[in-house]
Amino acid sequence: MADANALPLTLLAEQFARLPGIGMKTAQRLAYFVMSMSDDEAEAFAKAIIYAHKTVHTCSVCQNLTDKAVCPICDDKTRDHSVICVVEGPKDVSAFERTREYKGVYHVLHGLISPIDGVTPDKLRITELLQRISKDDVKEVIMATNPTPEGEATAMYISKLLKPLGIKVTRLAFGLPIGAILEYADEVTLYKALENRNEI
Ligand SMILES: [Zn+2]
Repeated sequence: MADANALPLTLLAEQFARLPGIGMKTAQRLAYFVMSMSDDEAEAFAKAIIYAHKTVHTCSVCQNLTDKAVCPICDDKTRDHSVICVVEGPKDVSAFERTREYKGVYHVLHGLISPIDGVTPDKLRITELLQRISKDDVKEVIMATNPTPEGEATAMYISKLLKPLGIKVTRLAFGLPIGAILEYADEVTLYKALENRNEI
């Protein structure tokens, strides 16, 4: 931001610029927008960030983000707890939930194996998945990571850990182009990928 701006505005814009996909120009625009808010609106905005940050944590079962000890999906007795869909992040859970067809449960890894970026398997919630499988009667694990090199490597790594345990491991049948991102896939495509999954 130009030096002509007041320091608090520069500091605010710098915080917006930390958000993904927000460049300095947009950050500056957002900072000016905050200035156009009423005191109450600005306070509600700031409070929403702090409230979400303080109250949202990972579900003790599936590791998805929730403000409860156990998230509503894991807590739902009508869902099939013997089928676990393993995804990269919380956004992918939302994508599958939008299909309204998947009745199993999820496990959120919070990333994909990527040695170049320093993401080794121990940085993901894989131990939690193994613990869960050793406790619950799990029949199938669906590897629903994206069809990217990292997504494939993660799916293969986890399937190698699960196979000796006698668990059926399947992979989404991607009609999606290679490199396509799950969260942008439409409901029908995603449902078909789930329906036509193959054992790996
Ligand atoms: Zn959960």
